Amino acid sequence: MIQVKDKKFEISITSEVLQEKIAAIAEVLNKDYADKTPILVGILNGSFMFAADLVRHLTFPHEIQFAKFSSYEGMETTGKVKQLIGLTSDIKDRDVIIVEDIVDTGITMSNLVPQFKAKGAKSVEICTLLMKPEKLQVPLDVKYCAIKIENLFVLGYGLDYDGFGRNYKDLYVVCD
Ligand code: 5GP
Repeated sequence: MIQVKDKKFEISITSEVLQEKIAAIAEVLNKDYADKTPILVGILNGSFMFAADLVRHLTFPHEIQFAKFSSYEGMETTGKVKQLIGLTSDIKDRDVIIVEDIVDTGITMSNLVPQFKAKGAKSVEICTLLMKPEKLQVPLDVKYCAIKIENLFVLGYGLDYDGFGRNYKDLYVVCD
């Protein structure tokens, strides 16, 4: 049991299991991208640990970049619009693999995928460490998902609670 700020968390998925699942998803990528040279784009902040472990298993040539989403109130009727910042490579005609920590409602990814396509990417796929299938609110094609989890708040292995707790090597789940 650990405490981060005002909440208590217990281990949900050990580091060993996380690493096994990451190796397994990397094997799938190694087959699918064997004859390609994609750009991986890690979405900050949460994906930094997953991206670092994932790329160590990859056997095809690839570049890796990190990018961030900035939220702002747009003029769309849907309310919040998010913008991609920090992508420096030209992704025109490139295969892009978005590396994400967790897909929850799917809204972040459903905003991001069209932005990559608008920049001329040849293909855009999502590779996420975690996904909460019950929470998905929008249609989203998540081709690579290492672990499906229940609809509970998790922390550790890059994921935070109010900025803290990203450093834990295991994944924790809130317990009070
Ligand atoms: P979505 O747009 O899919 O609803 O949300 C994705 C983002 O919400 C993730 O990148 C992550 O930052 C945050 N998020 C969603 N669920 C969790 C969770 O259980 N724990 C943490 N730490 N962040 C989460």
